[in-house]
Amino acid sequence: MTTQRETWDVLKVLNWTKGYLAEKGVENPRLEAEWMLCEALSLDRVGLYLNFDKPLSDAELASYRGLVARRGKREPLQYILGTQEFMGLDYRVTPAVLIPRHDTAVLVTEAIMRAAQVRSILDIGTGSGCVAIALAKALPEVEVSTVDVSPEAIEVARGNAERNEARVIFFKGSLFEPVAGREFDMIVSNPPYIPAGDIAGLQQEVRGFEPVGALDGGADGLDFYRSITSQASGHLNPGGWLLFEVGAGQAPQVLGLLKHYGFTEETFTQTDPAGIERVVGGRLAKS
Ligand code: GLN
Repeated sequence: MTTQRETWDVLKVLNWTKGYLAEKGVENPRLEAEWMLCEALSLDRVGLYLNFDKPLSDAELASYRGLVARRGKREPLQYILGTQEFMGLDYRVTPAVLIPRHDTAVLVTEAIMRAAQVRSILDIGTGSGCVAIALAKALPEVEVSTVDVSPEAIEVARGNAERNEARVIFFKGSLFEPVAGREFDMIVSNPPYIPAGDIAGLQQEVRGFEPVGALDGGADGLDFYRSITSQASGHLNPGGWLLFEVGAGQAPQVLGLLKHYGFTEETFTQTDPAGIERVVGGRLAKS
């Protein structure tokens, strides 16, 4: 008697993975299984749907299993697939950079709305480069510079700028250190803002895999807002803007910091689609 080898077709593989990932606490197990199978089979989602009864080869199964095992350990899907979309552009992401969040589009949009007279922008904390690149694409006349302390992040972001044909100037170093003596018309930043003591309570995808240097904002989460705001006026032209993304509940304190350090003009806060105050900004007086 011959034993029939079990065949795993696309649909069967998806159903199995859905159960497995759900058990591991993954929130959208079926959808994520589809994305990983697309990757392993080099198909798009339509292609996948047209091939539900296609049996997987041993090599395809092996490569897919590798991806599923990583996701089962709660590694973010974006690091496994190596990609994340932000404001219509595709970004390569590695564990050296924070995965771009859609909420950050509020920072970019608010900056663009105030950029009519702006000729130069500095983005502090490059990460994947998503903020600087989105600004450079939207404002081709503006010189966009960005600084990050992590050489690995700069490398990822440079690749993203090239891939998306964005003109961005990169500086390696801490906060204003590499731009000493330079002045800009606008400074934007989505700095690390999680209170250090809250990091252990974040979901495993974040606390286990995203760079802690991109998350940890010190004891109360506000360390970077204090450092940046206290130094910003020395790197801005008269009337210069300072815009921040902030964590939930941080807007009033960050707005207070801005006012304290001279950003008293046209101050504002803006909510994200969930209704959370997500962006805070203001500008220096002209004289
Ligand atoms: N500016 C990047 C982003 O918004 C990096 C932010 C960070 O690492 N805190 O994704």
